[in-house]
Amino acid sequence: MNYKKSNLYIENIPVQKIARKFGTPSYCYSLNKLKSNIKNFRKHFKSISPMICFSVKSNANLQILREIKKMGMGADVVSKGELIMALKAGINPKKIVFSGVGKTFDELKFAIDKNILLINSESESEINEIEKISKIKKKKIDIGIRLNPNIDSKTLKKISTGRKEDKFGLTEFNFLKIIKKYKNSKNLNLKCLSVHIGSQITSYKPYIKMLKVIESIIKKSNYNFDFIDLGGGMGIRYNKKTKKLNYKKYYTAIKNFLKNYKTKIIFEPGRSIIADSALLLTKILYIKKTNNINFIILDAAMNDLIRPALYNAEHKIIASKKNSKIVKKRHEFVGPICETTDKFLSVNKFQMLKEKEILSICDVGAYGMSLSSNYNLRTKPSEILINKSSVKIIRKRQKLNNII
Ligand SMILES: *Cc1c(COP(=O)(O)O)cnc(C)c1O
Repeated sequence: MNYKKSNLYIENIPVQKIARKFGTPSYCYSLNKLKSNIKNFRKHFKSISPMICFSVKSNANLQILREIKKMGMGADVVSKGELIMALKAGINPKKIVFSGVGKTFDELKFAIDKNILLINSESESEINEIEKISKIKKKKIDIGIRLNPNIDSKTLKKISTGRKEDKFGLTEFNFLKIIKKYKNSKNLNLKCLSVHIGSQITSYKPYIKMLKVIESIIKKSNYNFDFIDLGGGMGIRYNKKTKKLNYKKYYTAIKNFLKNYKTKIIFEPGRSIIADSALLLTKILYIKKTNNINFIILDAAMNDLIRPALYNAEHKIIASKKNSKIVKKRHEFVGPICETTDKFLSVNKFQMLKEKEILSICDVGAYGMSLSSNYNLRTKPSEILINKSSVKIIRKRQKLNNII
């Protein structure tokens, strides 16, 4: 994505042309950005050749998952729906892990029938449920158990998952108890230790701490796991203020860990793979001026992209046609929904804007469309995939008929 002359392009296509042809709001993905993100992720961890399971909850579009599958990735799913979608995209069940705090009997049974790689469990009661199914089906089941390492990942509070006050994972005490109880089980194969300490993590330090906790608990348990699933959470640079995650430090720590401990590493990245491969194209409906503020009223709203309203997340907004007239006044980019939090961004200056102009909200590939809703009975936006000069609709704009 870049400007040629003054026009914003995704690969070889001007954003304004896409907006004119397919309407707004629309999520637009660059296939080649997605591919290069996957290649880069692999490169960071090359010599340990991890299994990389894409976190489907970050983006569950079938075509996107097909592309991800073509790149050799597996999937991390958190519901039966996501599991079905990953299988439909052709992802090998032996590269699928099923995570989540509370899976239903039906979801567990379905996953077991599909012979996926691992069911990662985080409570003793759920493990008992899996054991019940194992007995019914007379089948030994491969499971992972998720540890809560009690680490603050220093990210937004609402997307932190590894502190003891968070609902995720098992405490050290319960973790060790489960190993003792199931290590010689006839029904369950305890294959994996999993963790996931949060999302949008930009410091390597919490990851180092996490590895130390894992190492210590493995010593205490005196048990060998075939897999260590380190989860995802790698942050991206939503703006210049955000630090770049030092992958090299994380990688070196994992390598050191593997010197003492032979196991296969699994990663479950979502955001770092897909976030910066997409823009949300939106049209300015109206500009409402007050003494102090220009309200830029967009046709995209919090139902299309909820991250700013839900987590105070910041997404840059850029023009599709650059001009050099800067207006020094507070600009608030808002949606039309009847909620004060339906606001994307507030800035102190912006280039001169006109009604009907197209803007792009940046880095929306992860937790954008997948968190969209029909609030205010608004239809969900379309999704478009750009590959050089080719443009493909990968999800049609929802029709009002389908929700009324
Ligand atoms: C959400 C989630 C991920 C992906 O997190 P990102 O921050 O998008 O990389 C991975 N594993 C689990 C268990 C998750 O819940």
